[in-house]
Amino acid sequence: MKLYCCNCKQMVDCDLVKGNVIYPRRLDLANHNFYRCSCGCFVGCHPNTDKPLGAIPTEEMKKARMIIHGMIDPWWQKGVITRGAMYRAIAKELHIKEYHTGWTRSIEQCRQVYRAASAVIKRLENRI
Ligand SMILES: [Zn+2]
Repeated sequence: MKLYCCNCKQMVDCDLVKGNVIYPRRLDLANHNFYRCSCGCFVGCHPNTDKPLGAIPTEEMKKARMIIHGMIDPWWQKGVITRGAMYRAIAKELHIKEYHTGWTRSIEQCRQVYRAASAVIKRLENRI
């Protein structure tokens, strides 16, 4: 599978590997699918598929994406806004058609998303 690797900064050929290769201690992930670049960076797949979540992140970006999810997810999980509406609002803020956290390709993009998500959340807070 050809995917964009954010560490190599280009499209790369990557191997489909199982979770037991990536996370030997995480028995819960043993059967999950991951795509791994030759540089060692990897990305997970949508549950029970071999469909990658997006571009292969660096370690730093992985943390940034987790922070973004930590910001966004509670709002739709609590039902303040639907998941779709949340992502549409962030996309609008970023002036792009569609937004997915897995699609971020650089730490700069993650920072832009962080600012966009903050603006959306500020509006939600004012509504409650
Ligand atoms: Zn790479």
